Amino acid sequence: MSKMPMLFVGHGSPMNAIEDNRYTRGWKEIAEQIPKPESIISISAHWYTKGTKIMNEENPKTIHDMYGFPNELYEILYSAQGNRELAGKVKNLISKQSAFDNSWGIDHGTWSVLVHMYPERNIPVFQISIDAAAPPEVHYQIGKELKSLRNQGVLLFGSGNIVHNLGLIDWGIEDKGFEWAYQFDDYIKESIINRNHETVINYLHLEKTAKLAVPTPEHFYPILYILGASDEEDKISVYNDSCVLGSLSMTSYLFT
Ligand code: ZN
Repeated sequence: MSKMPMLFVGHGSPMNAIEDNRYTRGWKEIAEQIPKPESIISISAHWYTKGTKIMNEENPKTIHDMYGFPNELYEILYSAQGNRELAGKVKNLISKQSAFDNSWGIDHGTWSVLVHMYPERNIPVFQISIDAAAPPEVHYQIGKELKSLRNQGVLLFGSGNIVHNLGLIDWGIEDKGFEWAYQFDDYIKESIINRNHETVINYLHLEKTAKLAVPTPEHFYPILYILGASDEEDKISVYNDSCVLGSLSMTSYLFT
């Protein structure tokens, strides 16, 4: 079996789940370009926990973890199967302490994108949580440990936003970002393309800009899992390269 691609997606607003826009078309395009995975493992910004948790239900539920959006969004179910066997393998591969936990489900970080990429819902999917107490290197290390799954038909799927500052969102500027948002997004983009992973792991060195772009790290950490699982041979393609609403970046990375 050839090596599966990997993906980091900037998911942006939950509204993308029910919209047809340049970002959702970008996600569809990615799904059309890569081999159909046998299973998807999602690392979503929205499952941010104490410790590393792994979902291992037969049929994970859909979680509507957002407030104040139209009813249509709360009616979406991403009712794909889980994959218990693969969840067991994941637990064995991760060297730090981890636990099975089915208190969560498939959250909007995952389904708002997958409804566009794989609307048939016929690929097993489950999530690994992001340990809030673990430093950036640990998230990168987990990615490394999961790398071998790429040879087993598994799509590693990170969902967050490189720039994510909800407090500074400006609903008046739909398709643009603040200057610092572009600055941080470009800095990370250059580092990813040049495989300078240390720079991404040490993003806090960018001090003021990093504090604005990443006031809390949960939307940033998913990229570290993907970089950890990448290697020199991967071709890196950038999708949806842009900032929106001032303080969000949609920039996504496909590794093939
Ligand atoms: Zn989010």
